[in-house]
Amino acid sequence: MNLLIIGAPGAGKGTMSELILKNFPLVHVSTGDMLRAAVKNGTPVGLKAQEYMNKGELVPDEVIHDIIVERLSQDDIDNGFLFDGYPRTGAQAVDLDAILNELGKKIDCVINLDIADEELIKRITGRRLCPNCGEIYNIYFFPPKEEGKCDKCGADLIQRKDDNLDSLKVRLGEYHKNTQPVIEYYEAMDLVKQVDASRAIEEVFADVKSILEGLC
Ligand code: AMP
Repeated sequence: MNLLIIGAPGAGKGTMSELILKNFPLVHVSTGDMLRAAVKNGTPVGLKAQEYMNKGELVPDEVIHDIIVERLSQDDIDNGFLFDGYPRTGAQAVDLDAILNELGKKIDCVINLDIADEELIKRITGRRLCPNCGEIYNIYFFPPKEEGKCDKCGADLIQRKDDNLDSLKVRLGEYHKNTQPVIEYYEAMDLVKQVDASRAIEEVFADVKSILEGLC
């Protein structure tokens, strides 16, 4: 079973990927993780990718092509994989088909975590963290008992720098522009399963799990 998971920033892609990997024997292939490792290790790919990543821009398709070809040449992907954060552009989706074709493989299912931008804005701008114990709150959905204070340890809650409305709007705009063609590409192949990601984690995962069990 070869899967893709697609979703806007804040849609719960990371959480769903973790739950999928706990329940199904798939290899996780995250271009974001691979690029961060390349940057950390100062490899040629890392040096090329760093400037784009620092600006929050997409890394050029040729760089992504090379890391995907390298990753798919390893034996562990033969039993199935979950692509996370890739393909991010229409050109990457077309390129992936060509790469998989060469390997005699294909994508079996694309999970689209569907959620309205207004909901994402509340999720992200409402997020507050405890710098002391790591507890996460949301002022709209899961507020602390006393405003601005951690229920567990009493520390003052903080907001992450990139959890602000301006940067979120840029990230969402980029996401829709680049990723909508990816969804349309796979919709034309009848591979997309829409999952309403505005619900609680357990409910969203129950849907994802039943979709994947239907494929096994
Ligand atoms: P992520 O962890 O998936 O949000 O990725 C972090 C950063 O890595 C992104 O902001 C991009 O700069 C870069 N990146 C990850 N995956 C891709 C991709 N498929 N295409 C282009 N850039 C990517």
